[in-house]
Amino acid sequence: MSQPSSYIRPELSDARLAAPRRYKMMIGGKSVDAQSGKLIERESPGHNGKIVGIWPEASADDVKLAIGAAREAFDNGPWPRMSGAERSAIMLKVADRIVARADELALAECLEVGKPIAQAKGEILYCADLWTYAAGQARALEGQSHNAIGDDRLGLVLREPIGVVGIITPWNFPFIIASERVPWSIGVGCTVVLKPSELTSGTSIMMAELALEAGLPEGVFNVVTGYGDPAGQTLAEDPRTDMIAFTGSVRVGSHLAEIAARQVKRVGLELGGKGPQIVFADADLDAAADGIAYGVYHNAGQCCISGSRLLVHEDIRDDLLARVLDISRRVPFGDPLNERTKIGAMISRQHLQKVEGYVEAGQSEGAEVLIGGASESADGLFFQPTVFTGVRPQMRIAREEIFGPVLSTIGFRTADEAVALANDSDYGLSASVWSTNLENAMQTIRRVRAGRCWINSVIDGTAELPIGGYKKSGVGRELGRYGFDEYSQFKGIHVTFGKPPAWFGG
Ligand code: NAD
Repeated sequence: MSQPSSYIRPELSDARLAAPRRYKMMIGGKSVDAQSGKLIERESPGHNGKIVGIWPEASADDVKLAIGAAREAFDNGPWPRMSGAERSAIMLKVADRIVARADELALAECLEVGKPIAQAKGEILYCADLWTYAAGQARALEGQSHNAIGDDRLGLVLREPIGVVGIITPWNFPFIIASERVPWSIGVGCTVVLKPSELTSGTSIMMAELALEAGLPEGVFNVVTGYGDPAGQTLAEDPRTDMIAFTGSVRVGSHLAEIAARQVKRVGLELGGKGPQIVFADADLDAAADGIAYGVYHNAGQCCISGSRLLVHEDIRDDLLARVLDISRRVPFGDPLNERTKIGAMISRQHLQKVEGYVEAGQSEGAEVLIGGASESADGLFFQPTVFTGVRPQMRIAREEIFGPVLSTIGFRTADEAVALANDSDYGLSASVWSTNLENAMQTIRRVRAGRCWINSVIDGTAELPIGGYKKSGVGRELGRYGFDEYSQFKGIHVTFGKPPAWFGG
């Protein structure tokens, strides 16, 4: 076993860590604290013990106030009744403000999540593009008309906003996940209460502040900060929310689906993944090795669409692994504030220990660690880039979401075997195929049951294409044109011309 040689020790005296940023929630267009005055302090996971953000700890009553504000804005406010063009103009201004404040947003996201500063900046600019796309579509949303249902009849299908949407997000990509949902829901005319993760709430609050500055009417976009229970739980249970859009773990997602089922409330779920990366013998091995390393190490592996299962043709297994190991040895990991860093911190000590537990489980079940396998946690919560080989499909490291920079390698001989291995999972969020034979790649990816797929790429994304899960990875789709349907309901109107038919002889 070898060791990565590219750890960058964090500078704990960095001036950007000097003072924590103090946030307030956004309820009905006002910046407010929790009624109890309670606060949550966030320590940077990349810089031991440094508090970088402070936000309110909402009670159920605070959340109910926010739902009331969103309800009022939906039922009586201007937003759902505005033209698409008016909504679009405001959303474009939000995008402009995101670009103008990108450095500030990126720093907050970097410090709260522990992700590399350069990555955080790229993510913020990507989010500006998500807002821009959604703004464009917001004035192009349409229903249908049916002109061939009889000479005296016309059918109309109206697209209407579903109402008040409770959006609950996880800690790993706070700004992206909120930007994949808020503009799509408000673009249709909904109003929103967003509850970000208690660990990384700052940039979601900043997003609501920017939206208010851009002219979004009060009460359309509310943010409450606090713990899953009571804050998220109240959002789901309150009958005044018409929909819950949840991104996070299968455990919490299925719990929220039960609450929604009891109330017959719509629910969108984007949950976990165990993404396969299928590499055929004819793949460009340098490109594949780079993609495999990026796919599993991006965001320190804390990525729902991580390519954490490497399924490799036996003929190239050794060659490919040698290249992946070479990258793993060299890739800079550590200090999130260093511009060179590619892999930042794990979100919490508890999560770091969970990843360590998986590495132990893999070894005790007989898999071999080729590189890494340990943490570097003297000054932050870092885990080494780690590659396992000799993994069998029934092992825990092949089946469960590790959510760390840990790759599990399994060999295959035929395309049928590769597809069977790829589909041998409770999850179906993402998948990659690496092959220079496009026909082979297409035929393979068609048979893989996953919602977000790549050929000769990984973790790619664009506003135009839908994302979402098969199987336990979720229900519903975000982004693209499909994303607007999630937050719409459709009303059929039958118009009759002339005298109506005589139903009972009258
Ligand atoms: P989590 O499920 O623990 O928490 C997600 C959110 O739910 C947080 O805001 C949390 O406060 C809230 N929550 C917790 N208990 C709740 C309750 N009883 N009622 C309402 N809300 C509650 O997930 P996490 O640890 O923040 O994130 C990691 C998980 O998220 C992983 O499984 C990952 O795969 C998944 N994830 C999925 C996607 C996707 O797009 N599919 C994206 C990112 C993360």
